[in-house]
Amino acid sequence: MRPGRRPLIAGNWKMHTSYEEALALARGCVERIPASLAVDVAIHPPFIWLVPVSKVLEGSAIALGAQNCAAREDGPLTGEVSAHMLAPFCRYVIVGHSERRLLLHEDDAAIAAKLRLVFDHGMTPILCVGEQLAQREAGQAGEVVTQQLRAALDGLTPDRLARLVIAYEPVWAIGTGVPATPADAEAMAQLIRAVVAELGTDGAALRVLYGGSVNATNAAGFLAMPAIDGALVGGASLDVEQFSAIVQAAEALYQQAADQATMEA
Ligand code: PEP
Repeated sequence: MRPGRRPLIAGNWKMHTSYEEALALARGCVERIPASLAVDVAIHPPFIWLVPVSKVLEGSAIALGAQNCAAREDGPLTGEVSAHMLAPFCRYVIVGHSERRLLLHEDDAAIAAKLRLVFDHGMTPILCVGEQLAQREAGQAGEVVTQQLRAALDGLTPDRLARLVIAYEPVWAIGTGVPATPADAEAMAQLIRAVVAELGTDGAALRVLYGGSVNATNAAGFLAMPAIDGALVGGASLDVEQFSAIVQAAEALYQQAADQATMEA
């Protein structure tokens, strides 16, 4: 974390929760996560719960995010949800999650289109990038992530690049209980900043998250890294205790970093 770049802790509920569970989880987050934080917090319920959860979050510091959006503005796309439909309710939209890339065959062109639509409608995309295990073992992690970034971001204005959130999520770490090491995640976060800088912004305001088996026990190790500004949390975001503990760890580390910067100034 670095003072001046607001950390973000985002909870991806994936295709979990019943209606009652979603409302209870959202209420638990509102109760456990104080309103005045230096850290941004977002929850990403399934589409169907976005509107009722938005009512639970009213007046709280927790923002709402979607897990995906359509690659087109409108039209005959049965079952899809357009960015313009999400905009009245959501501040963030996850784009290019590896589960969608791999299981639902989402390609680079669709991811680039979604990213632009999210910006067009005034929301912030959380772009997910990350390599598969065989790619890491073959020493190709940097190359894979660089290609994913270029395909999604090429041609974006510097202003949009600076407002983007990128989540480094190695595929082998998602939902496996085997996270990357903080040092490996930091190296990839630095690479991501360098690639975005090449694409046209100094990257100073860019927020880079780590995602992949983050929990209340290991979160601080990632959040303490200078190029990492937060976490995209899957499984642990379904547990209010774990999720609020991750938010508290981020808040404490950010305050510590800010105090340190003040002392050094
Ligand atoms: C995710 O879904 O983006 C994720 C990182 O999941 P988990 O925290 O469960 O690994």
